[in-house]
Amino acid sequence: MTTNDELNLTEATDQKWARVRDRLRAEFGDAAYKSWFQPLTLAGVKDGEITICAPTRFMREWVMSRYADRIRALWCGEEPSVRSITIAVNPGAAALSPAPGQNLAQAAPTAVVRPIREADDVSVGAPLDPRFTFDNFVVGKSNELAYAAARRVAEATTVPFNPLFLYGGVGLGKTHLMHAIAWHIREQDPSRPVIYLSAEKFMYQFVRALRYQNTMAFKESFRSVDVLMIDDVQFISGKDSTQEEFFHTFNALVDRNRQLIITGDCSPSDLDGMEERLRSRLGWGLVADIHPTDYELRLGILQSKAEQMAADRPLPRRVLEFLAHKITSNVRELEGALNRVIAHAILVGRAITLESTQELLHDLLRANNRRITIEEIQKRVAEHFNLRVADMHSARRARVVARPRQVAMYLAKHLTARSLPEIGRKFGGRDHTTVMHAIKKVDQLRQTDPAFAEEVELLKRTLDA
Ligand code: ADP
Ligand code: MG
Repeated sequence: MTTNDELNLTEATDQKWARVRDRLRAEFGDAAYKSWFQPLTLAGVKDGEITICAPTRFMREWVMSRYADRIRALWCGEEPSVRSITIAVNPGAAALSPAPGQNLAQAAPTAVVRPIREADDVSVGAPLDPRFTFDNFVVGKSNELAYAAARRVAEATTVPFNPLFLYGGVGLGKTHLMHAIAWHIREQDPSRPVIYLSAEKFMYQFVRALRYQNTMAFKESFRSVDVLMIDDVQFISGKDSTQEEFFHTFNALVDRNRQLIITGDCSPSDLDGMEERLRSRLGWGLVADIHPTDYELRLGILQSKAEQMAADRPLPRRVLEFLAHKITSNVRELEGALNRVIAHAILVGRAITLESTQELLHDLLRANNRRITIEEIQKRVAEHFNLRVADMHSARRARVVARPRQVAMYLAKHLTARSLPEIGRKFGGRDHTTVMHAIKKVDQLRQTDPAFAEEVELLKRTLDA
């Protein structure tokens, strides 16, 4: 028999639940709150496990796949002993609390988020997203090298290459692959210490260690791991003392033959604001880039996500094709679009059609329609400064030509997804360092010369419109 008492549903717990819900509302907004959180009820907290009831199976899956980790993290903030979260389906959940004698966890289908382990302890690493596994990663031409390298590292018993450096634009699956490696290693051997964290978190912890004068403990916590993963390393560009510390950590781990996995938004050699010795070290092992997705991969991802999210509500193929065709920016946006389409269909209770999809996503579609090309930028900038487009490619270095060219490079960097080397090639085969210099120069001038800043802003806006 499970009573409220056994589940430890006290007034204090109720208050914690209220605070967690307030945070959820603040973080996800009113609409999401009303749709997904308000209907949930707390069944209890016991032995480090929270049990929550959702009124429908779909809602349980939805909350589980999207918000469970966050709910658990917020509970952890209220009660550090909390390790996992269970969501049960209980049709009357919104209205009543469990009747005495009814064991919710057994009466209804449940889903459990993998419990966090000690290694996730807030003091060092960051928790892993349960959705980011190899099984959930769809492989295509653009990411096959990165995927193969990640698998290799995850399955290896000896370090195959050090570091593994993954890079690519936002929302293309870098973090997903890192978490997948970590999950895999933990499943194979839970005793292997694996730490995952962002470069940002690394920096904050380092700064805190400095402030509280316990840098020894900080160093130790990293140097005793087997696998260290640092996400978005570009964050520590220009942060000299953090870089210095990272460099030492890096070397200490490589010396001990421990695996390092690092991601960034560009290749090690293009990491601006990084010390040369660190840049070169980062490129020592295997460097794998993830390219923008192609149509087939986008369609594959959509099919897989649609199946996971709403198996009982198949989406018309035309809708998936339409989305794959139209939303080309990155996988995160693609997922966001799919979420919106499915959530909308559930809420209004109507089938998904191509028309309803177009209507629902018109803002997103408009943004994705505007793919500015480098050629357009060159044309517009040349017009603006009364130059010929050929001047954008020419070797002429006179300021009247060179400055507008730099502006065009700057805009190309900000308005397209092209890499620095690609931009350089489009500007008469210039080197990526020239592009980097141009961007820096324009940034500098924007700071010091308001008229110039205005001009650049104007160009940007007309191109963006
Ligand atoms: P990044 O770290 O490169 O910015 P993420 O790893 O956070 O990108 O990916 C953004 C979102 O897209 C995540 O929800 C991730 O699961 C999803 N995603 C990216 N690539 C893939 C893929 N190949 N297959 C399945 N999901 C993907
Ligand atoms: Mg990421």
